[in-house]
Amino acid sequence: MKNIMYNSTRGEDIDVSSIEALVRGIAYDGGLYVPTRFYDIGDLNRLMDLSYKDLALEIIRAFFPEFSETEILNYIEGAYDNKFNTSQIAPIVNTAGVYFLELFHGPTLAFKDMALTLLPYLLMGASKKNNNPAEIVILTATSGDTGKAALEAFKDVKGTKIIVLFPSEGVSEIQKRQMITQEGNNTFVIAIKGCFDDAQNAVKQIFADKEFNNIAKNKGYILSSANSINVGRLIPQTVYYFYAYLQMLKTGALTAKEKINIVVPTGNFGNILAAYYCTKMGLPVNKLICASNENNVLYDFFKTGMYDKRRTLRPTISPSMDIIISSNLERLLYDISGEDAEFVRNMMKDLNEKGYYEVSDRLRDNMNLFYGGYADESDTLAAIEDVYNKSNYLMDTHTAVAYSVYKNYFNTTGDNTKTVVASTASPFKFARSVCDALKMDTKNATDFELVRLLSNKTDIPIPSPIYNLETKPIFHNILCEKDDVRDTIKNILGI
Ligand SMILES: *Cc1c(COP(=O)(O)O)cnc(C)c1O
Repeated sequence: MKNIMYNSTRGEDIDVSSIEALVRGIAYDGGLYVPTRFYDIGDLNRLMDLSYKDLALEIIRAFFPEFSETEILNYIEGAYDNKFNTSQIAPIVNTAGVYFLELFHGPTLAFKDMALTLLPYLLMGASKKNNNPAEIVILTATSGDTGKAALEAFKDVKGTKIIVLFPSEGVSEIQKRQMITQEGNNTFVIAIKGCFDDAQNAVKQIFADKEFNNIAKNKGYILSSANSINVGRLIPQTVYYFYAYLQMLKTGALTAKEKINIVVPTGNFGNILAAYYCTKMGLPVNKLICASNENNVLYDFFKTGMYDKRRTLRPTISPSMDIIISSNLERLLYDISGEDAEFVRNMMKDLNEKGYYEVSDRLRDNMNLFYGGYADESDTLAAIEDVYNKSNYLMDTHTAVAYSVYKNYFNTTGDNTKTVVASTASPFKFARSVCDALKMDTKNATDFELVRLLSNKTDIPIPSPIYNLETKPIFHNILCEKDDVRDTIKNILGI
């Protein structure tokens, strides 16, 4: 069968190799790369005894056919090593009526590690195959989790520099401390005065700045991004859904071909899109439950068929889902329309010009696998308290959004299909909100004190990436106005 290639969702940049798709990140026509076909995983019984790494090899190499099996194996060995605090990498915990798929055992305690630990290997491997002599500069704006995961993944990777911008107001104390204590000679962290949108806009402006890109290129740099539209992040995220299914099969929780529900706390639509791609590869799924917080654009979309960005962002206690434009939804539109690039272009044009787009009832029928729900702040806090009190299991705020949405779904539909909840962050990363949920006194305590109190109360050890954070030396202290970002980055690169 023909190797998997990549096409842009907007139809102009087509039949691109995985190498090109990795290096470019976003297609020339502004679209997102999607695989020309999906790997068919076949009989799942045959994969039941595979370790996480073996399963990753099975799946990932099919999507990156220009790499040899040994290359991919080496990348996987490098990514999923003892940076993860369990050799299972993504363990599954059956409690409170669901199967929690814990995706937070990596170096930065959030699910972004699942793909970002592998991305530098794929990117550098692709760059080498492309005979690209330039140094890659990863430039990323973060609302908290991506920035730290990318810094940790790219630190000391030869041939790269990584620059992360975060909003000085808008990340938790622990998230901030994780970034400003970052080690590595090639890491740079900039706090910008403003909110996440300001940081995001500053980065977008630099990517679009031809003059800047030319100057950088002449000095031997190419700009790249670590955000979730790169296929090097999307594909590795399919592995853990199969892994969860296989573990359930192995323990007898599922019989062969039995369908599951998957609930995903969603922001940019990357993680849940990976689950959707799994269904195209042969994972038996009944419903994909897309859980939003109060920024419930996606809930409205699944309910009405209209995606409407004309609203203001509400900062919530699940900040990594505080997003209005879910970029990866473009890939779903492409799929449900039968790969109709013109349709996708029209939708994206409407979104830009009118602030919304609408899909027809016929196309909405093609999204029947999805169910959209949302949880407000008090639902989220109540879910944390309830699950802890009844089942002695501690969820972070993002996972709690998913759980709350699932409970609602269950109560309204009575659907008792076995359900996997993507558990996307360690509760210690969002200690203040989790302590609030457990009705602990948080008023005069720092986030670090709360981490200790939470550990004492729950008997869960403080995860090592947070344990020493308070006393770690601070290496990064750049604070700049949003208009000075360009000059600050020029300074860093010496251009
Ligand atoms: C990024 C993130 C999400 C949202 O994932 P998307 O792929 O953007 O939908 C959810 N929870 C946590 C903890 C995250 O860091």
